[in-house]
Amino acid sequence: MKHIVGLSGGKDSTALALRLMEVEPRDYEYICNETGNELPDMIAHWEKLEEMLGKPIIRVRHDRDLEGTIDQMNMLPNVFSRWCTRVLKIEPTIDYMGGLPEGSTLYVGLRADEEARRGLFGEDITIRFPMREWGWKEEDVWKYLDQRGVCIPARTDCALCPYQRLGEWRDLYNKYPVMWAKGVELEKKFGHTFRSPGRDTWPADLESLGEEFARGRKLREYKRSASCRVCSL
Ligand code: SF4
Repeated sequence: MKHIVGLSGGKDSTALALRLMEVEPRDYEYICNETGNELPDMIAHWEKLEEMLGKPIIRVRHDRDLEGTIDQMNMLPNVFSRWCTRVLKIEPTIDYMGGLPEGSTLYVGLRADEEARRGLFGEDITIRFPMREWGWKEEDVWKYLDQRGVCIPARTDCALCPYQRLGEWRDLYNKYPVMWAKGVELEKKFGHTFRSPGRDTWPADLESLGEEFARGRKLREYKRSASCRVCSL
């Protein structure tokens, strides 16, 4: 039987994986979902964690990346059609869980100050929520990560995620022009947009949105998220 730690890349599962090795050391198997559309900070975070944990993190993924899956589905994901989560994360995770030996245990990074949730976990495996057992709240997670000198990437979701906020799109435009250009190219190819029209007073399509950013149009400051708000194990 196996002991699996599910990693979303955010603060909670990162803290869980590191702390579990200290208080309950065993040969854990670490898993994460990979879509092939992660930002460089996210990829660097996985690599740093692998170093700290002393073993590779298994990438549970579809055989195509986000762009390849967009081609396959012949459409972009958007807030009305979130097929990407199902195809790139949920289905590969269900396949992985289905292949686990009976009696395996999955460790999930749910904190004591969060509502209980079960998620996509197989029926034949035991689920543990160690941070709830330890009574760890958000402040405990941040304190522990500070002590261990671990930074969490500002974004753990896909670079072109339709759920990102306008400020995150602006950061993508400023910091990752190649990825931005890929988003523009995909929108032209499929004739629709990642962002939903009418969601705000800004253009929906990335090309026009980029022109607004280039003109220096200001947007309200936003609070950065420290993990994907949509996809988590
Ligand atoms: S992070 Fe966004 S784009 Fe990536 S799979 Fe989840 S919803 Fe889709």
